[in-house]
Amino acid sequence: MIQFNKPHITGKEFRYIEEAINNQWISGNGPFTKRCHQFFEERYGFPKCLLTSSCTDALEMAALLLDLGPGDEVIFPSFTFVSTVNAFMLRGIKAVFADSLPHHPNIDPQAIRERITPQTKALVIVHYGGAACAMEEILEIVQEHNLLLIEDAAHAIDAYYKNKPLGSFGHLATFSFHETKNIICGEGGMLVINDARFEERAEILWEKGTNRTAFYRGEVDKYGWVDLGSSFLPSDLTAAFLMAQLECLAGIQSKRKSIVENYYKGLDELIKNALFQVITPEDYATQNGHLFAIVLADEPERSALINHLKQSEIFPAFHYQSLHKSPYFTPLHDGRALPNADLFSERLLRLPVYHDINVAEIQEICNAIKEFYGGREA
Ligand SMILES: *Cc1c(COP(=O)(O)O)cnc(C)c1O
Repeated sequence: MIQFNKPHITGKEFRYIEEAINNQWISGNGPFTKRCHQFFEERYGFPKCLLTSSCTDALEMAALLLDLGPGDEVIFPSFTFVSTVNAFMLRGIKAVFADSLPHHPNIDPQAIRERITPQTKALVIVHYGGAACAMEEILEIVQEHNLLLIEDAAHAIDAYYKNKPLGSFGHLATFSFHETKNIICGEGGMLVINDARFEERAEILWEKGTNRTAFYRGEVDKYGWVDLGSSFLPSDLTAAFLMAQLECLAGIQSKRKSIVENYYKGLDELIKNALFQVITPEDYATQNGHLFAIVLADEPERSALINHLKQSEIFPAFHYQSLHKSPYFTPLHDGRALPNADLFSERLLRLPVYHDINVAEIQEICNAIKEFYGGREA
C-alpha cells in the first residue's frame, strides 16, 4: 500500500523533547522556542518570528494585528484552505474572492485588480505548493492601493521568488508545521513580522494580551493586561520537536525535491503527450518539494484515475474545493464565477510526496498511471 502522506521522524525529536523536559520549561516561549525563532531569523533574514500552535492561529493573529474588522474588504484566492479566509472572517471583514491563474492555483494579479474597491484594506495570497505567486505584479498592486499584504506561506518553507525567501514579502506571513507539510511538529505554525510597527503588539497578542515577553527580557518590572490577545504560543515540547526537524531541513528539502523530479521523469512521456498538465512553478519561483499535482481532463477522469490507483492500493488525494462555493460561503458570495478555482477543485490530483517514499514506489505509481492511460495515447 502507498498512502498519501507519512510523517517523517528525523530521530532527534525524542532527544530534544527529553532535553525540554530536563530544562523544566515545557510551557511556551522557552529555550527551544527561542532556538526556532533564531533559526528562521538567521536562515531567511526574517526580522521577527513567533511560533504559534498552528498556521490557523498565525492567520488569526495577523487579522487581529492588522486591526481588520467590519466595513473592511479583504481579497483572497478561492482555491485555498478554509483557515486562510476563516481567520479574517472571525473579525467581521467582508471576504472577496479573486480567481486563480488558468494554469496554476496561485491568485491571478489581474483578478485582484478587478476586485479592489475603496473598502479594500488587505490582500491575502497563498503560494500554492510552495510556488511563489507573481510577486512583482502583486507588490505593485499593494503599493498602488496602499494595501496590507499577508502571505499564507503554509506550503512555502525554504521556497524563493528570484532568490528572495517566501514569507519575506508581506507585512506579515504565516507558516504551517502540520504533519502534512514539509517540516512538521504535529500541529504548529509561525507568524513572521516583516513590518517593525507590528512587532511589539504581536508579542502582546501572542501572550494573552499581556506584556510578559517584555517582562522575561527584563524590559518591564511586572507584567499585566495591556491589550487584547489569546494563547497563541505552542509548548516548548512542540518547539523541541520542531527544532529537531529544522536541523534536518536541508536533507528533507533535497529528498522531497528529488521525489518531485522522479515524478517528472517517470511521467515524462505522458506529460509530453499532454494527457494531463503538471502544476509547475513559474520561472521566477523555486520548486520546494511540497507537492506534485497533475490536472486531468475533467472530473470523471480524475475519479476514474483515483479508482484505478486504489485498485493497486495507491492513494492519491485531490485538494481544496472552491471556498466561494462552500456551504458556509455560498450565501455570502456575490455570484461572480471563478472558473479557474473551480477547474482545480474538480480536476487537480496530488500524488504521494513524503520523505520516506522510495524510488520503486514512485515508479509503481507512475506505471499505474501509464497503465490507466494505456491505449489512450493519440
Ligand atoms: C495547512 C494550511 C493551513 C493551515 O495550517 P494549520 O497549521 O493546520 O493551521 C493554512 N493555509 C494553507 C494554504 C494550508 O495549506
